[in-house]
Amino acid sequence: MSGRRILVTAALPYANGHIHIGHLVEYIQTDIWVRFQNLRGHRCIYLCADDTHGTAIMIRARQEGRSEAEVIGEMQQAHVRDFAGFDIAFDNYGSTNSDENRTQCAEIWKALRDADLVHQKQVTQLFDPVEGTFLADRFVRGTCPKCEAPDQYGDSCDKCLANFSPTDLIDPRSTLSGATPEIRTADHLFVRIEQLHGFLDEWTQDGDHLQSEVANYLKGHFLGDELRDWDVSRPAPYFGFEIPDAPGHYWYVWFDAPIGYMASTHQWCQANGEDFDTWWRDPETEIHHFIGKDITYFHTLFWPAMLKTAGFNLPTKVHIHGFLTVDGRKMSKSEGTFVQASTYLEHLNPAWIRYYYASKLGPRLDDLDLNLDEFVTKVNTDLVGKVVNLASRTAKFIAGKHTAADYPDDDGLFVRGTEAGERIAAAYEACDFNTAMREVMALADAANKFVEDAAPWALKKDPDQADRLVDVCSIALNLFRQLAIYLAPVLPQLAEQTGQLLNDPITNWDQSQAPLAGTPVGEFQHMMQRVDPKQVQAMIDDSKEATPLENQLEAVEAEDTTSEEPGEDTPSPETIDENGGGDDQPAAEAPTAGCEAHQQEPLTTELCTFDDFMKVDMRVARVAQASHVEGADKLLQLVLDLGGDVRKTVFAGIKGVYQPEDLVDRLVVCCANLAPRKMRFGTSEGMVLAAGPGGDDIFLLAPDSGAVPGQRVH
Ligand SMILES: [Zn+2]
Repeated sequence: MSGRRILVTAALPYANGHIHIGHLVEYIQTDIWVRFQNLRGHRCIYLCADDTHGTAIMIRARQEGRSEAEVIGEMQQAHVRDFAGFDIAFDNYGSTNSDENRTQCAEIWKALRDADLVHQKQVTQLFDPVEGTFLADRFVRGTCPKCEAPDQYGDSCDKCLANFSPTDLIDPRSTLSGATPEIRTADHLFVRIEQLHGFLDEWTQDGDHLQSEVANYLKGHFLGDELRDWDVSRPAPYFGFEIPDAPGHYWYVWFDAPIGYMASTHQWCQANGEDFDTWWRDPETEIHHFIGKDITYFHTLFWPAMLKTAGFNLPTKVHIHGFLTVDGRKMSKSEGTFVQASTYLEHLNPAWIRYYYASKLGPRLDDLDLNLDEFVTKVNTDLVGKVVNLASRTAKFIAGKHTAADYPDDDGLFVRGTEAGERIAAAYEACDFNTAMREVMALADAANKFVEDAAPWALKKDPDQADRLVDVCSIALNLFRQLAIYLAPVLPQLAEQTGQLLNDPITNWDQSQAPLAGTPVGEFQHMMQRVDPKQVQAMIDDSKEATPLENQLEAVEAEDTTSEEPGEDTPSPETIDENGGGDDQPAAEAPTAGCEAHQQEPLTTELCTFDDFMKVDMRVARVAQASHVEGADKLLQLVLDLGGDVRKTVFAGIKGVYQPEDLVDRLVVCCANLAPRKMRFGTSEGMVLAAGPGGDDIFLLAPDSGAVPGQRVH
């Protein structure tokens, strides 16, 4: 395979605040994509930097009595530490306040001047006479000029949603000093981006550079009209780079931030003996930017315009994602869902959220909801229950020995896994990680069924079955390894542990295509723990208590990174009504000859109406607790979590078929509105659905992976 050369960036985090779980959606998404490309044998580098300039940093430094360099230096260290804690592996992590960036900005600036795109205009703005600085809209608050709601930001009103100019506010005041702002006029430099309108029409609408909804949005919102000149300078005082040919004027933070991608490349090239032009001028190189939807137009209009004018490669693709919500709502400091990366790491394993985000991320701009109950369920059911368990239940039986010299007959399981490989790879490539994870978990289900059926723990007890035991474990471990390779972009540590266990480091996707035979099996080392909901609660509690040193500026920034949009929709009953009405279903038939199940329990001949059916409220539930009932032969007592705060105690006649410890945390289907029944041991508040006639033939129903407690079953 002739490898592709790919340069990847994630948006530069601002040096005024710590990394939180909302930011991590993007850095983890990008890290997975980069790791995937490298695993496929391509040459892919991941570059990032701190975004350091602007008024907010300047004011913060003043308030803290420190230099800007000190403020941003400290924050950069914190960012680097947080990212490393989540296995986010940048090839270079720079700063926009670097010599490389100053030089690169000057080069692009000269190109804009040479193309005659820069001109000067006067701008009238509010000015804080105490701090001696012009005020961006978000640094001014006052009374809405339309509805007179108090304490509104300078550009819009929360109450009546009116948009206005900060000079229209009644009783405006600076959020920096509290002073009443003055109106002042200053010269600013502008880029006439309209001159590149034709190019931007073509670049945004043709080719595959943008997701289609983004291309349409740009066409409808910006490109349909004349493009407004872009204000790229700020007068002194301003923390940034002074413009070489305009003393007293500084490049606006949004001018130098994307150029920081190039500056980071310069640093990486210098450290690795690489040629910068290979990465930014050779058309063979692909450039992929990952960003959130809030900064779309900087990256899809201004940035390509700058690159085009200065003669650099244009982005191959800008990948745009939605925002994070937690339990369907905006992240909130008071509710404890505004979780800092460092707080997460104090309580939870980074692999868990890498997997959870991967299981939720698709190629579109939809917001991603972190449902905390679902988080626990997915980690415990998928990662621990389905993946890691494959190794932990089998490796111990052949630890210190070798897997079978020839890969045994597995009924085509491994081959089916290899066939899924290209589908999984295509999903990763398209940033459709959700589909990739579903494919992997379907393979995990098949592998687990194999282990259940083969029951190595039973073979272990029979010395005559020693060879069969080795075969079964060899198959299970190879199926496990295949999954670990497919999951390696998401779970790099699991891949490393798997390489150690089977003495064969995982470095390439193609390793998934052939099983290992006769490989020494190491001692099984613990790979991953289950998540205890108490740990999640402790993290939330800690986030409530934590009041990090944040000024009002950071609070504003934080609000910008989350969304007001609600979480996912649940399927509507209407979709079922169309074919669920019973009209075309032969509901009543005589028992099928030879069908034992029908003989034991004949099909019901009496029809039930759709309304009858809808009376029964069946829900997905998680078994929160399971225990024996003293004095009961058949009953287990289950406490079911039906989502939210809803818990129900149910007595189920499944003792002897299921062990309590095997039930905890698994998902079941529960009739939630069954009238409570008083029993000798207590009141049963529902019923767990199971198939089979009873006795030893009881099979609990389980929803497919992805279902979460509380969802209605239709
Ligand atoms: Zn208003």
